[in-house]
Amino acid sequence: MIIEDDEFGEVIVRKSPLARNIKFSISTSGRLAMSVPAHTSDFLARRFLNRNREMVREKLPVKDPREQKARDYQKKVLMKKAREYLPYRLEYFAKLYGYEYEKCRLTHANTRWGSCSSNRTISLNIGLMKLPEALRDYVIVHELAHLNHMDHSKDFWAEVALHDKNYKNHEKKLKMFSPGV
Ligand SMILES: [Zn+2]
Repeated sequence: MIIEDDEFGEVIVRKSPLARNIKFSISTSGRLAMSVPAHTSDFLARRFLNRNREMVREKLPVKDPREQKARDYQKKVLMKKAREYLPYRLEYFAKLYGYEYEKCRLTHANTRWGSCSSNRTISLNIGLMKLPEALRDYVIVHELAHLNHMDHSKDFWAEVALHDKNYKNHEKKLKMFSPGV
């Protein structure tokens, strides 16, 4: 649930059967989050926030609501671009190099560009849409190669090299960017 607050913008309220009392934290998006016992009403959550306003302001690095909005918008635009591009690009390389995967999932985790799971699902970060094409393609063939090697062994890198001769350089350059929005 989300409550709108004049000062903090959107505040995420997480109801948890395990929570005994109300706790404040900062979500990955920089929003204020409250975990509350399952039966807590909106009214109580708001009242608790009002009573602790000063403490929250002093102790927690809540992002400016305008900044939250800008990031939300950017994420939406990236997601749209990603949806129209990444699954097709993945399919293109899979066909080209003869890989079979189960499905393509789009993510927006802050830490990884992509992953490949043992059930042959390839996850690609929507932040890839901010990268130069060569790096984006590198991440895609990297994840495809994981379909055959679920590690970063010599054999794995040899397979990546078959599809991207510049992979070492691309891997290095990738470290200069962050997948987070
Ligand atoms: Zn890898």
